[in-house]
This record gives sequence, C-alpha cells and structure tokens, in this order.
Amino acid sequence: METSKKLNRTLCSGWVLLSSLAQPVAASLSFTFNYSPTLEQGINTPNAGFNDPTFGADRQTALNSAANMIAAYFVNYTADLTYDVYSYSANDGFLASAGSDQFVLPGTFEPTVVQEKIITNGYDGNSDLADGVINWNFYSGYNWGLTDTPATDQYDFKFVAMHELLHSFGFLSDIGATGTGLMSIAAGTPDTWSIYDKFLTDASGASLIGINDGIFDATKISALTAGAADAPGVLFNGPNAIAANNGAGIPIYSPSTWADGSSIAHLDSNSAVTNLSIMNPAAHHLGLDVRTLGPIEVGILKDIGYVQITATPLPAAVWLMLAGLFAIFGFKKIKKHGLFNM
Ligand SMILES: [Zn+2]
Repeated sequence: METSKKLNRTLCSGWVLLSSLAQPVAASLSFTFNYSPTLEQGINTPNAGFNDPTFGADRQTALNSAANMIAAYFVNYTADLTYDVYSYSANDGFLASAGSDQFVLPGTFEPTVVQEKIITNGYDGNSDLADGVINWNFYSGYNWGLTDTPATDQYDFKFVAMHELLHSFGFLSDIGATGTGLMSIAAGTPDTWSIYDKFLTDASGASLIGINDGIFDATKISALTAGAADAPGVLFNGPNAIAANNGAGIPIYSPSTWADGSSIAHLDSNSAVTNLSIMNPAAHHLGLDVRTLGPIEVGILKDIGYVQITATPLPAAVWLMLAGLFAIFGFKKIKKHGLFNM
C-alpha cells in the first residue's frame, strides 16, 4: 500500500531540455530535466551550475547525452522520466548524487518511482512530481570534461551522469550501517528495502534480509563491513547476475569502515570481476572513464526487473534532442547515493 513517502523538496522552476528518440521510431525512454535555480537547501543559485550563462548550456547538453547513452540499453521500454536537477558547489568529496522516491511499507521490497515507471512502461507512482532528483557539484576544484574526450585533468561528466541515473533506476540499497532500511527501523523488525536489496547475501550466500518478511537478519550486520582486499563481505546473488559471472555471486562494495552513500549500493572496486564498472563507488581516474555497462551490470539490472534490457546499446547517432520550458513543484523523500571523487 502507498502509505507515506520520505524526504522533501523545494519549489523549483526553470529551463529544461527534453530529449526523445527521433528515429527509428521505437519504444524507448525520454528524459525531462528541470534545472532548478536553487540548491536543494533553498539557497538561490540562479546563474550557477547548469544555469551558468556561459557553461550551463553545454552542461545540460552533456547530461542529455549521457541520459541517452543509458536509454540506449532500454529501447524495449517506453517512459518519459522527469528529474529535478540541482547545482551546488562544495569541497565535500562528492561529485554528484541522485535518487528517486520509494513507497514506504514495512516488510516489502519497493522499486523506485523511476524503476517502476520504466518497467511498467509509464506508470507514474508519484503522479506529477518529478520521478527522480540529481544533485551536481560544480565546485571549482572539480574540473568537468563535458565531451567524449575529457582531458587528463578532467572528470568524465558523462560517466558520472550515467552512474547517477542508474542509481535512480533502482541500482541502490536502502540498507544503513546497522541493518536499518529506508524507514530507519532497527534490524530484526520489518522495514522497507529496494528491489536490489532482496538479492544481497553475506559471503556465504545467506540472505541479509528475509525475502518473505523483509526483516534484516541482525546477525548479518557485521557482513556490511566485512569487505577485505580480495574478499567482499556482501554479494549480489540474483540469477542473471550470477549467470554473467560464471556462477558466482557479485562482489559488493562493503569496506571495513561503513561509507554512508557508498557502502552496499556499489560494485566492489577491489574485485577483479567488478573493478572496472560504471557502478563502482568512485571515479576510476581522470579523463575518459567507463561508459559501457558490463555483462554483470546488465545481469543485475535484469534481476531488479529490467528483463527486457539489451546487452549492447543502440548507437547514439539515432538520438535527437528537443528543447522546451517546464516548471514543477515537488515534495518528496528519497534515498540518495553519491559518487566520490576518489
Ligand atoms: Zn554511486
């Protein structure tokens, strides 16, 4: 049941770019980005970040391009996805973060609004509110490379954007450091979890959360920080992902010190089978980074509901961008996940 939602959002309005598939005419995803003139905290940034009078247009174009690069794997689905996009500047180690609403119901595994909208070909769980949110850090110390050839002193904007969008698609965890879920209920009691969480196990293959009762097994809390150099503490054990990994569970980022916003929601960066993935917890290096989903990531996306995802993307040349004006009000609570710059 749709009981309540978490998190909040402030009034925002502004320019937006719509992008849609031009040809061939086929089912696919389109994106509407609403570039807020305010920070999420409400501080006015009308001429900064994505709205910067000099750099904003190129930044928006790069985000649309990255969205289309992700959409190219989802050509068998039809949905128009709306995002509120916030610009900010902080020397906080985060490059960007993103998320999407989930309905809250104890004892269940819930898709994000974006995830459900794609899988159902258009069902909008939060009606006219934006489906997802993106926060982008334009701190002057982070030099963004917007093109397909980022310089060796630049972060790859499109890599980061693909990563963040995939979080909003449901590649995320609601698990907290002590085994709590989205509702912050103590381990041992039913809480709300992501679909992704359903497939998580400890290193021995035992589920972290009861599939039927949505209860985090309190004896598994230690697994969340049991990762070592070559031995992750947590595995993703969905059948499609396992099949893409020679029958083995997928190493999940579970460092010995819990990293809020990073632990569990990413692929392990220490394991050879996952260390060159879009969904690692950090940029791999400056310059051009990973921009292709690997077979394991495709398997995970199948396991969390995208059974019609294609293993290779449609060539980007078929995409066309349109422009329009759009305003939106919002009020929501989301689970956010960030990408660190190291
Ligand atoms: Zn991330």
